[in-house]
Amino acid sequence: MITVTEALDQLFALARPTGVEEVPLIEAAGRILARPVSARRTQPPFASSAMDGYAVVSAAPGDRLTVIGESAAGHRFDRPAAPGEAVRIFTGAPVPAGATRVVIQEDVTRQDSTILIGDRLDSGDNIRPAGGDFAEGAQIDAPRKLSASDIALLASMNIARVPVARRPKVALISTGDELVMPGETPGPDQIIASNTFGLHALLSSEGADPRLLPIARDNQTSLKHAFSLVDDADLVITIGGASVGDHDLVAPVAEELGMQRAFHKVAMRPGKPLMSGRLSGERRVMMIGLPGNPVSAMVCGHVFVLPVVRVMLGLPPVAAPRLRAPLARVLGQNGPREHYMRATLTEEGLIAFDRQDSSLLSVLGQANALLVRPPHDPARAKNDVVDYLPL
Ligand code: AMP
Ligand code: MG
Repeated sequence: MITVTEALDQLFALARPTGVEEVPLIEAAGRILARPVSARRTQPPFASSAMDGYAVVSAAPGDRLTVIGESAAGHRFDRPAAPGEAVRIFTGAPVPAGATRVVIQEDVTRQDSTILIGDRLDSGDNIRPAGGDFAEGAQIDAPRKLSASDIALLASMNIARVPVARRPKVALISTGDELVMPGETPGPDQIIASNTFGLHALLSSEGADPRLLPIARDNQTSLKHAFSLVDDADLVITIGGASVGDHDLVAPVAEELGMQRAFHKVAMRPGKPLMSGRLSGERRVMMIGLPGNPVSAMVCGHVFVLPVVRVMLGLPPVAAPRLRAPLARVLGQNGPREHYMRATLTEEGLIAFDRQDSSLLSVLGQANALLVRPPHDPARAKNDVVDYLPL
């Protein structure tokens, strides 16, 4: 058996970035910026008014100034302002040449074409200098997951098409004679395939492009048929059939298809049977075989699959980010495998569920954290600070 970290390193060695594509800005949110981009213009492109008021060369309480025109957003006033003059101005409008400040309209009294400066005049110039936000050529570094704020910034930089990492195509294969699809009517010995749907959701949320292949039955022909449909996937994930039971055919079939197996067993709970390698064929597609137990599959999704997807998206090879919190209850000592316990993070701290069987999706549904116990972790007291993965 190898450790989680060793397994992850082997997976990172197998994962290949998917490359770059350009998408319209409107579709770029949540994607990974693949190359640095540079602002195509300066913002603001001219000194502009931060307020509604009057642009002036100078003003002191009691001054009376002549209003010589108006500068509105999108319509500048084209002449310079001279001492004793004021230009009516609105937020976002270009400040006329010569003006050094904008007196807000609340601080003046307008009488026909003159204004009288009031005595509560503050000292702010209310001018946004040209380039105060960013200058042409200012760079956004890559790789970077594009947030809504980034999209607004890219728009104002006049970047209409964005170079992003191509979404990794992931083919998901459920295996098992007992499985039917949600919505179908299961036979008396059958259950509903759930893992593929959970993993599909997990993969989509991380920016991958997952696809469900037909359920493979527990025979070589059916499993080979499923593998034959993998098509142009960047990653193939099988679920179930990965341990050493008589009906666990994924490893033998994948090997028959030329898979060079990178490893098979990982010292973790849940999720011990896990394999990875490359399939034969020109593209030598990466494959990960996940355990079938629903919670194991989802935990391996968080611990292994998502970090791999991130590498395929051009992000650095790092384990799932962990946070730390105190325990709200005592915990007994851990065995030899790294344990990912379903838990809830409450105001008092982390509480692990009593029932941790790897088949219990209802418990996973209630959990908002996976409390991580290192191998041979001793018993833990209340308020001990431990690692967890947020769910
Ligand atoms: P296996 O690894 O094939 O021995 O499966 C272990 C357990 O997980 C068995 O109880 C299977 O019925 C269950 N299982 C396997 N694949 C799935 C799936 N896609 N959805 C739900 N349960 C599954
Ligand atoms: Mg099975």
